[in-house]
Amino acid sequence: MKFKLAKTAGFCMGVRRAVEMVLDTANRQQGPIYTYGPLIHNPQVLEILAEKGVTVIDDVSGAKPGNIVIRAHGLPPQEKQALLDAGFIIIDATCPRVIKVQTIISKYSRQGYAAIIVGDKDHPEVLGLLGYAKGVGHIISHSDDLDKLPPIERAIVVAQTTQDGHLFDTITRTIAERFPHFKVFNTICDSTLKRQAEVRKMAKGVDAVVVVGGRDSGNTRRLAQVVAQEGVPAFHIESEAELDFEAIEPLDSVGITAGASTPNWVIKKVYRTLEAIPHQARRWHHAVFRIQRWLLLSNLYLAVGAGCLTYACALLSGIRPSFASALMATCYVLSMHILNNFIGKEAVRYNDPDRASFYDYNRWILLAIAIISGATGLFMAFTLGPVPFLILSIISLLGVSYKVKIIPGNLKIGKKIQRISDVPGSKTVLIAIAWGIVTVVLPHLSVSLKITKAMLFVSVWASVMAFVRTAFFDVLDMQGDRIVGQESLPIMLGERKTFRVLKQLLLITFAVLISAPMMYLATTLAYGMILSVFYMAAILEAFKRQWIVPGFRFEFLVETLFIFTAIVAGLWHLLA
Ligand code: SF4
Repeated sequence: MKFKLAKTAGFCMGVRRAVEMVLDTANRQQGPIYTYGPLIHNPQVLEILAEKGVTVIDDVSGAKPGNIVIRAHGLPPQEKQALLDAGFIIIDATCPRVIKVQTIISKYSRQGYAAIIVGDKDHPEVLGLLGYAKGVGHIISHSDDLDKLPPIERAIVVAQTTQDGHLFDTITRTIAERFPHFKVFNTICDSTLKRQAEVRKMAKGVDAVVVVGGRDSGNTRRLAQVVAQEGVPAFHIESEAELDFEAIEPLDSVGITAGASTPNWVIKKVYRTLEAIPHQARRWHHAVFRIQRWLLLSNLYLAVGAGCLTYACALLSGIRPSFASALMATCYVLSMHILNNFIGKEAVRYNDPDRASFYDYNRWILLAIAIISGATGLFMAFTLGPVPFLILSIISLLGVSYKVKIIPGNLKIGKKIQRISDVPGSKTVLIAIAWGIVTVVLPHLSVSLKITKAMLFVSVWASVMAFVRTAFFDVLDMQGDRIVGQESLPIMLGERKTFRVLKQLLLITFAVLISAPMMYLATTLAYGMILSVFYMAAILEAFKRQWIVPGFRFEFLVETLFIFTAIVAGLWHLLA
């Protein structure tokens, strides 16, 4: 079965901004946090916000003053003032595109224009906009409503940002005929239009479309309607539990889209559940998929990648590859990644729900694998010498204590640091450093305790490659990390900036690899390693352009990076 995930699926800019503002407030602030009305129409997100102590209120009377979040729809200025007067601290998450409409109404109402708002009469955004019209605002939902308008001399016409484009065009055409002197502003948000246009196009090329999102979400319902208008079955579901397997299994191609208030992890869960449906005609395909899934979820594939990188790095730095070193790196990475999945299971629950269930289901066997591989890694380090053993013991200890409170009581460094994991961006950087140490430094120290230029250069290269891989996964995990308050690098820098940094790092790595053999920093294999840099750059580009949908197959491709690196290194070595 083929799947197509809409590029526009999931949070729009305004909703993402509002959810992030609430989560950041909940992670940082003490005291009550309220949202004025439900933040978005999505039951899973509302449930998480409730777990984080965020209360939805529609009326502030009787509520203890605290932080109150104005949702993306905005609020009439009079109500905002009432909140301030009642002692609340306003966190204004009004979508910038809604603010733009509010500003237009405000500006023209000061000049004596009436405001005609094309929208749903009871919609909170429309009621908010009406508040800016200074008592001379009118809401119209159909062309017929124009007849009910009082005589108006000067007026502006704006739209609710999520208004149906066709309806707005029809109404504004009538206005142009009857009231040509009215000023019309098409304020419909292009995010809504793009989402509908994409699903319309998608529906023409698939057998059915799964539309993910809350039942109360108007824009999600509209997406299902658009699909139905194209004569294609639409399955509107809130979560993967509602998937109709019987109806979907015989299909050849399925499209997936989601409303503006559907979080990534819900879409991911649906996508992965669909991916796992066996296709009757290709059972072997499914068997391969299941093996891939097991290798990925258990972290075994990644751990093999660490062993492969150790091999490639030995050839790159000119030392003899050793099986003991590769096994040590494999065991260390396997043990640490399994343990960290258990320790950070709260974030895993949101970022990778399938992995979370896998860890719950195979709890004991995975714990046994983590302990045995940890012990085997230390034993292999011991066979390599006392120094590698000591260093591996220290970094293993740091690895398992990453999320453990090391500053007792209420003492904190800065405002909030009590654990290593509290240091912003620490996860990405520490993982990268640990990879550099186990794949390069320890194998070198087992040969000689002398610190060489080649050892330093290759360990930095390995760390950079591990950094790019880890930061890339951190980008995929941003929503879940934000929920649990983990300040990963992409959360600090933002997605776009993180991608820019990763690309620049790959570019620098490319340039350095070209000159490394001439500077005696590495063997000529450095030229071959440029292919690994291209591999990772291609992954980043494919993700950015949405050529590949993030699912198991995509993750498998990313985790193949170090295996690919070892294959290039092996072939290069053979040919050289
Ligand atoms: S649909 Fe558009 S206007 Fe509405 S919240 Fe999203 S980005 Fe803002």
